[in-house]
Order: sequence, then structure tokens, then C-alpha cells
Amino acid sequence: MNIDISMIAKSINKEMVQEVQLALDSFRSRLGDFPITSKEPIELHIRNQENATVLITGTVDMEVMIPCSRCLEDVPTPIHFDIDKKLRIEEDCLVDDEMEEPDYLIGFELDVEKLVYAEILVNWPMKVLCKDDCEGICKVCGMNLNKGACSCQKTELDPRMAAIQDIFNKFKEV
Ligand SMILES: [Zn+2]
Ligand SMILES: [Zn+2]
Repeated sequence: MNIDISMIAKSINKEMVQEVQLALDSFRSRLGDFPITSKEPIELHIRNQENATVLITGTVDMEVMIPCSRCLEDVPTPIHFDIDKKLRIEEDCLVDDEMEEPDYLIGFELDVEKLVYAEILVNWPMKVLCKDDCEGICKVCGMNLNKGACSCQKTELDPRMAAIQDIFNKFKEV
């Protein structure tokens, strides 16, 4: 969805409120393809402030399926953040000083889908766990250890090997 901001950009203190229902139904990035399972409409406030600035604010509220960092089971993960963008008004376009060549701005037009996409990327959770004490998967057979112990675990380890494996596990921890 594109919103034309040229009228707002022309008059100080002018504001518009636009409800946006995102078309985005999955989030694709270099990390993978994550289905968006629910999303609230965004109430976008676009306001011309003094000092040739347009302020864009709104709240994004959605739920995305993200695999657990340890066991890789899908976890419904709430993604919630505020958009708070300051754009500089130039003669024939808007400029985002925090981003080099933002693809969500075309002159005075705002591509809301692309703006939200860029903001999700910035607000993406660093780590997702299905539960705090997730056991992860066995590095040998790939079994999800939350569902029980696998037979690989039963092999007695040489104490020196066990120490090495402890260190390995420490590094593996995400
Ligand atoms: Zn897990
Ligand atoms: Zn195993």
C-alpha cells in the first residue's frame, strides 16, 4: 500500500491518520521464510512538524512462526514495536537520514509494506526459545531431546572426552 504524503509535506502541522492492513503474510529474509500467523491493522500517524520534518508513528503487532534456536520447533513469537520515523522534507522528495537509499520512499510516496518490512528486520528477536530450559537436539542423531533421551546419550564417555564435550556444549549454547 502506497500513501502519498505530498500534501502533508507542504503544510506545517498538518496530520493524517491512515489505518493500514498489511498484505504481508510471511516474512522473507536471508534467515528464511517465516509465516505471519496474525497481525493487527496499523494506525499510521503522519505529521508535518516544524523544521521541515515529517514524523511517521504507529504500532506494529503481529505473531510470527520462528523456529526455536535450540530444537528448531516452530514457536509462535509475538513481534511488537513502535514505528517512529523522522523524514526530512526536500524539494522533491523525503529523505530518511538513518537509511541509505530506503526502498520504501519514492519521492513523496510511502510504501507502507516496505517500511514495515525494514522495521521488522531491525526489531527481529535475537534469540527465540520454545521454553527457557529447552534441551535442544542431539548433535549425533538430531532427535529433539525435549521429547526424551536418545540412545546416543547412553554411551559412556572417556572423562577427558566429556570435558571436551562440555566445552563444545558451552560454545554451542546460543
Ligand atoms: Zn526448543
Ligand atoms: Zn542422539
